[in-house]
Amino acid sequence: MQKDGRVLVIGAGPVGLCLSLALAQAGIRSTLVEQLGEHNFLEQIPRAGTNHPATLELFERIGLYKRLERRGIVAPVFHYWDRPDHALVAEFDHALLKDETPFPYVLQCERIKIVEEALAMAKEEPLITVRLLTEFTGFTQDAKGVTATVRGEDGSEERITGDYIVSCEGARSIVRKELDIEFEGFTYSDRTLNIEVGCDFRALGYAERNYISDPVEWSNLFHWSGPPDRWRVHFPVAEGVAEEAVMAPDSLEDYMRRFLPPGTQFHIYGSNLYTVHQRVAKKFRIGRALLCGDSAHVNSPIGAMGMNSGVHDAFNLADKLIGIFRGALSEDVLDRYERQRRHVAVQHTQAQTIRNKKTLAEKDPAVRRKNLDELRRTSEDPKLAHAFLLRSSLIQSLREAEAIQ
Ligand SMILES: Cc1cc2nc3c(=O)[nH]c(=O)nc-3n(C[C@H](O)[C@H](O)[C@H](O)COP(=O)(O)OP(=O)(O)OC[C@H]3O[C@@H](n4cnc5c(N)ncnc54)[C@H](O)[C@@H]3O)c2cc1C
Repeated sequence: MQKDGRVLVIGAGPVGLCLSLALAQAGIRSTLVEQLGEHNFLEQIPRAGTNHPATLELFERIGLYKRLERRGIVAPVFHYWDRPDHALVAEFDHALLKDETPFPYVLQCERIKIVEEALAMAKEEPLITVRLLTEFTGFTQDAKGVTATVRGEDGSEERITGDYIVSCEGARSIVRKELDIEFEGFTYSDRTLNIEVGCDFRALGYAERNYISDPVEWSNLFHWSGPPDRWRVHFPVAEGVAEEAVMAPDSLEDYMRRFLPPGTQFHIYGSNLYTVHQRVAKKFRIGRALLCGDSAHVNSPIGAMGMNSGVHDAFNLADKLIGIFRGALSEDVLDRYERQRRHVAVQHTQAQTIRNKKTLAEKDPAVRRKNLDELRRTSEDPKLAHAFLLRSSLIQSLREAEAIQ
C-alpha cells in the first residue's frame, strides 16, 4: 500500500515543476515553493530553450509535450558553421535517431513557455500545493522528516513539513549551502552576450539551431517562435570589458553588423549578459535532502544540456521516490540517484559542454582545421553521425546511467 507522504520541492523552474507533476501523477503529494508570484513569474530573463528528444519523451509522459509543441519550433537539423569563411561545416539530422526515439528532433521552446505551461498544469493538480510568493530560507531534517522555513509576501515566517526536501532552486541553492556541499568546478573568465534579434537568418542558409566557430568571436544562433518571431545570438565578451559599454545600443548593433553580411536588415528586441560556470555538487544527497537540476550542476549552454539534464534528474528522482512511497524500494535507492546523475553531470554534461566551447573558440589555426574536419567527417558518415547524435541528444547519457547500480 502507498504511504501517505509529502515531498517539499523548492523552486518552480522546469526541474521542480516536472518533479512535482511526475510525483502527483503517481499519487504522491508535494508542496512546491516558489519565490516569484503571478505578477512576475513570466518576467524571467531568457535562458534555456532547446529540448532534446529524450526530454520530449519525458514531457510526453506527464502530458506537457502537446502543450509545448504548439508553442515551439520542431527542428530536426542543426549546423556547425565556420564564421571567417561563412562556410557550413557540418549538418546533423536527428532523423538518424528515428529508431531510437518517437521524437527524432529537438523542440525549440523557451524555458519561460515551459514553466508557464507546467505551472498551469501544477495548479490544476490536487496533489500539488503550489506556494507562489513564498521564499525558502532554510531547513532541518531528522530521522522522521524535514522541516522547511519559508517567508511569505508579508515577511511572516512559517514552517512546513515533509518526508523529503528536493532543492530545485537553481544554482544558488540554499539547501546545497546549508548542507555545506562543495560546488566543484570553475567559472569562465569571459561572459556571454545574448542578443534577441528579428532577422531572416534562414535566407542566409542557417538552420533553426547553429553553432558557429570563430577564433575571435564564436557564436550560437537559435530560432524561437513568436510573436515576435526572433533569433537568439550569443557572443563572447572578454574579461574586464565594462557591461554598460557592451550593452549600449550602438555596441549591440555593431555586434550584429559584424556578424551579418553588409546591408542585412535586423531588429534588436533585447539583450542580456551572463557569466558561465562549469560546476557539479560533490554530493546530490544527504539524508532526506536532495539536489536536482541547476542546484546540483551548472554548465555552459553550448550544446543545450543544462535544463535537459536537470529534467532527466527530476524524472530519475521521481521514480525512486515513487518506489519508496509505494514500499517497493528502500531509501538506499536515493544513493543510486546520486551515482547515476552525478556520473551524467561529470562525464556527459560537463565534458561535452567544455569540449563544445573549446571547439567553437579554438584559436590555433591547425587545431581549428583538425576540429572542423573531424566534425565534417562525422556528419558525412551515417554511423559516426548516429553515434554523435546519441551523445549530443543525451540519449547515450540516459543509457549509461541506467547501467549504473
Ligand atoms: C543563457 C542561457 C541559455 C541556456 N540555454 C539552455 C538550453 O538551450 N538548453 C538547456 O538544457 N539549458 C540551457 N540553459 C540552462 C538552463 O536554463 C538551466 O539549466 C535550467 O533553467 C535549470 O532549471 P532549474 O529548474 O534547475 O533551475 P531554475 O530554472 O534556475 O529555476 C529555479 C527556480 O527556483 C526559484 N527559487 C530560487 N531560489 C528560491 C528560494 N530561496 N525560494 C523559493 N524559490 C526559489 C527561482 O525563482 C526559479 O523559479 C541555459 C542557461 C542560460 C543562462
